[in-house]
Amino acid sequence: MKKLYIVANWKSNKTILQAEEWFRTINNLPVTFNEEEKKVIVCAPFTLLSKVKELTVNCKLSIVVGAQDVSPFDEGAYTGEVSASQVKEFADYVIIGHSERRSNFGETEKIVELKILQAIKFNLVPIICVSSINQVNDKWKMMNGKFIVAYEPVFAIGSGTPDTPENAGLMAKKIKEILGDTDILYGGSVTSNNVANFLETPDINGVLVGGASLDAQEFYKIIQNS
Ligand code: PEP
Repeated sequence: MKKLYIVANWKSNKTILQAEEWFRTINNLPVTFNEEEKKVIVCAPFTLLSKVKELTVNCKLSIVVGAQDVSPFDEGAYTGEVSASQVKEFADYVIIGHSERRSNFGETEKIVELKILQAIKFNLVPIICVSSINQVNDKWKMMNGKFIVAYEPVFAIGSGTPDTPENAGLMAKKIKEILGDTDILYGGSVTSNNVANFLETPDINGVLVGGASLDAQEFYKIIQNS
């Protein structure tokens, strides 16, 4: 049985109180699945990393903390940036190259590459987002670190119209042909109703969930149905 990644991307959402409420809800739900088979990661905004880390300690469900971005530079004079060494104090994973960062913040291939290097240098596992096969770079294999790739077609993100499991599975297969044995996630309008269809395909190793991860009950159902 393949180990599945169920990754929440909270984006620019939640205050401390809302994060506490999310964890309270999770803690009140029964664990009805084998935790060994699922790796649950919550990628929180920087402002919540410390709080989320604290909340995972007493959480009934085993949850690992992730960030949503990292500086392309080492620590130093980069006002507004958060370095990988700082992120590592709280998180073990980091989303890099999300299409929202590429389109809204002009994140280029070069910047994505620098961020991956920083993450690997500080033992963070990058979850590299790509929306097409053209964004997959075989250089990543040479960076001497584990990484995960999330295939997230732009049309499917936040739209309520996911890709078909067939196409997503085919994309995952093609990405593996370029990168070798890499875990591939699918992301884009994943819900508790459609998650199983994506995970049934042989080359998809998990899901990256945006909107549906904000609601703890729905996210829990996604884990259950995975
Ligand atoms: C995402 O932003 O990574 C994402 C997949 O969003 P959503 O699930 O809302 O489509």
